[in-house]
Amino acid sequence: MDIDGVLLANENNLAEGAADFIKYVADNFEVYWLTTHCMHGDPEHAVEYVNRASDEDLTPWLKKFKPTAWSLAKTDAIDMTVPFLWYDDDCLWGERRALEVAGKLTSWREIDLRKNLFQLQDELDIMQNKY
Ligand SMILES: [Mg+2]
Repeated sequence: MDIDGVLLANENNLAEGAADFIKYVADNFEVYWLTTHCMHGDPEHAVEYVNRASDEDLTPWLKKFKPTAWSLAKTDAIDMTVPFLWYDDDCLWGERRALEVAGKLTSWREIDLRKNLFQLQDELDIMQNKY
């Protein structure tokens, strides 16, 4: 789970539907941070960074997200042998290549909040089979 451009629409505001999205994925899936706000295995800053943009205290759910450790490519932190969804607004060339090689390019859920302000709500609807 990326933060900037995904859970946060900008530095100070959650994306539309992000609170419900966070609660649902935390309660139903094994979720890992995949963000520059958590690169070295300590999730505390990521939790705080997202939560300070929320009116509601989301820490009980955000604390369920597990940390990852990676340096150059986020895909280094992904176990390509199991099914996964990667929510991110960016996918660098090398990361795209790594997904392609593993046959997992469709596991990247490209979030573009400028194109669709309500995309997290849509993603939640997809997960809840409302389509
Ligand atoms: Mg991002």
